[in-house]
Amino acid sequence: MLVSAAQMLKDAKAGKYAVGQFNINNLEWTKAILQTAQELNSPVILGVSEGAGKYMCGYKTIVGMVEGMIEELNITVPVALHLDHGSYEHALKTIEAGFSSVMFDGSHYDIEENIEKTKAVIELAHSKGISVEAEVGAIGGEEDGVIGGGEVADPAECKKIADLGVDMLAAGIGNIHGKYPENWAGLNFDVLAQIQELTGEMPLVLHGGTGIPDDMIKKAISLGVSKINVNTECQLVFAEATRKYVEAGKDLEGKGFDPRKLLAPGVEAIKAKVKEKIELFGSVNKA
Ligand SMILES: [Zn+2]
Repeated sequence: MLVSAAQMLKDAKAGKYAVGQFNINNLEWTKAILQTAQELNSPVILGVSEGAGKYMCGYKTIVGMVEGMIEELNITVPVALHLDHGSYEHALKTIEAGFSSVMFDGSHYDIEENIEKTKAVIELAHSKGISVEAEVGAIGGEEDGVIGGGEVADPAECKKIADLGVDMLAAGIGNIHGKYPENWAGLNFDVLAQIQELTGEMPLVLHGGTGIPDDMIKKAISLGVSKINVNTECQLVFAEATRKYVEAGKDLEGKGFDPRKLLAPGVEAIKAKVKEKIELFGSVNKA
């Protein structure tokens, strides 16, 4: 059964560890993440972006696939199915389709409009037991043409959004989506500490987990980060393992062209990456 992310993140905050959000792209991705979380007895959040939602044939298809896998693979650890960076419209669509958690990203609106729309999403989601993530201060990324440091959120605005009753709050602290540039300034721990001080118990979310050094991840967790999003890193290891298989000519040997064989090294690479992250985040045996 899918669960809201609210309780797993409260527990994470209290226990000073973080739960990983791993974004899914297809059946192999989803299976690899669920099996690894189960093996490590860790709670897990499956992230779905709007683009990945469209790719996987819509939110209903995804809910069916994930719920089916939880049952057929005997997954007993808590699993939240979460919309990543959703617009207002898609937050409503995923709530309707049976997701157990949504992110409403109103960071591109001015703060007043972000507050109004976040409130409306919270009201609907909470009436159905669905958790809500909000974002303050845009998170940089290559797609936004940001080179160098990511944006940094205003702690006072974070407090305003936190007070609306969201279950988790994403705030830019210099983190970036995708690969980090050579000249990246690192995470801004002063701002993170200020946000944590103002928002108290609120679990904080760190986006753009790919390429942040392990010691910075650990420090961020100690300062109140309870959810860390991982996406690009799984894509990179999947592509690398698949390329090696093809370059070694293994798809030309016997039935090496069978998709179950062709995609297997990539799946194993995702499993290893997810395991490494769950261990780093400290959520092993926290299910
Ligand atoms: Zn993000």
